Amino acid sequence: MNALNFIGGVFVEAHDGETLTNINPATGEEIGRIARSNKEDVEAAVQASRLAQNEWSALTLLERADWLDRLADGLEQRKEELAQRESKDTGKPLALARRVDAQRSIDNFRFFANFAREQEPEVFEMADATNVVHRKPIGTVGLITPWNLPLYLLSWKVAPALLMGNTIVAKPSEMTPLTANLLCEVASDIGLPSGVLNVVHGYGPEVGQAILEHPSIRAISFTGGTATGRHVAATAAPKFKKLSLELGGKNATIILDDANLDAAVEGAVRAGFTNGGQVCLCGSRILVHQSIADQFTTKLVESVNSMMCGAPEDASTHIGALISMEHLQKVESYIELGLEEGGTVLTGGTRAMTGQVGPTQDGAYLRPTIIDGLDPSARTSTEEIFGPVVTLHRFDSDEQAIQIANATEYGLAGSIWSTDTERAHALAQKIETGIVWVNTWLHRDLRTPFGGVKNSGVGREGGAWSLGFFSEPLNVCIKHD
Ligand code: NAP
Repeated sequence: MNALNFIGGVFVEAHDGETLTNINPATGEEIGRIARSNKEDVEAAVQASRLAQNEWSALTLLERADWLDRLADGLEQRKEELAQRESKDTGKPLALARRVDAQRSIDNFRFFANFAREQEPEVFEMADATNVVHRKPIGTVGLITPWNLPLYLLSWKVAPALLMGNTIVAKPSEMTPLTANLLCEVASDIGLPSGVLNVVHGYGPEVGQAILEHPSIRAISFTGGTATGRHVAATAAPKFKKLSLELGGKNATIILDDANLDAAVEGAVRAGFTNGGQVCLCGSRILVHQSIADQFTTKLVESVNSMMCGAPEDASTHIGALISMEHLQKVESYIELGLEEGGTVLTGGTRAMTGQVGPTQDGAYLRPTIIDGLDPSARTSTEEIFGPVVTLHRFDSDEQAIQIANATEYGLAGSIWSTDTERAHALAQKIETGIVWVNTWLHRDLRTPFGGVKNSGVGREGGAWSLGFFSEPLNVCIKHD
């Protein structure tokens, strides 16, 4: 299956006909070819978006909300295909792609459609004047997204961007192009006006860079790694583009001495290994109170050992392939580093499979891995690995737990496990982060702010934060007679 660009409502090759290979990381096999675009293709997409801008922004918010519902309907009709494509592109378990990726992509459109319908006029009365705030579109916005949750994260930006009257030039990761194209197919089928949504495939330094530099793209919403985010900021900020940066994480799962142990083990496993640890929110550092550490560790290792690591289509698989062989090697290099830094691998660290359907040797598989005994300040304990690897640390007091949790450059998310929710709530406020879950993980209300502090990003997405980012407020102050 090939992935062409979608520009001005038409599927087209890169202007010079260049292509890239799309690999299924679970098998090493070629899935198809992807347009390898460059700045000429971005230019064509920007032109198409500018032509569409007036018509699109002339619609009312509620009319655009109806379009979001139509996109959700179209995706819903092709939900199984969406999950299949996502699983093939990423190597993730098909069951996970159905439950999380496909469902959330649909939900993102539905959520923003309904959220729009609940918006109240923004009016501020003074004694002698009335202020009315209008939310105007920015124009053409650039969306750049990663490979770990491809359409989930792209639709999280597309929906509010369209809702607020903008037109889009989007670049998905070149490793996972297929579901962005499914969205474009749906857009075409439902008759979304041409040029409102444009997708340009290719490499970051070629297509992504052209988006960052294009003078007519006035806002960039980027999700990806911190190093790329730094480059995005350095390129776009001097051009005074509006910027939203959702970056990496090294999140702490904190198990207090009064935690329900079984629930905490289950939560720590889910937080550590969902999507093979390739979620920015993953709890890749587990901090456990000294008094329950031995008991917790025994249960944790048992639970991780029972995880099936195998072919994505096998219904018993918990962990599929990682995104690529190169990424697998990077993750393995962190396990080696962990050993050099004095850690002990309690389980995992190998490519051995346990699933029922035999995965191939060419797949990028790694057993879920727990490393114990590392200093909390070690590189393995503080740098983002983005794979099925967690480090385990013990603490004696709440203060020490906070100190360890805050000892990274990141500040995206975390979870606290305790039967005393007041204590956990108080502790949560001392963590330098954007999101803390208490006795749960990745439990999302899409109205709430999503994003991080420190090197995990700038700005927030979700509900009103997304509408704020994708619009320019105009305040009209009318003096009373
Ligand atoms: P990445 O390498 O930073 O890539 C992200 C996107 O940026 C890709 O589309 C990439 O294209 C593009 N890109 C690369 N170089 C570029 C350049 N010079 N100009 C413009 N765009 C460029 O990240 P990734 O490896 O795909 O994703 C994993 C990272 O994303 C992790 O660090 C993870 O924590 C983070 N993440 C954060 C969140 C969040 O919400 N905070 C959510 C998910 C993931 P190519 O694919 O062609 O390189």
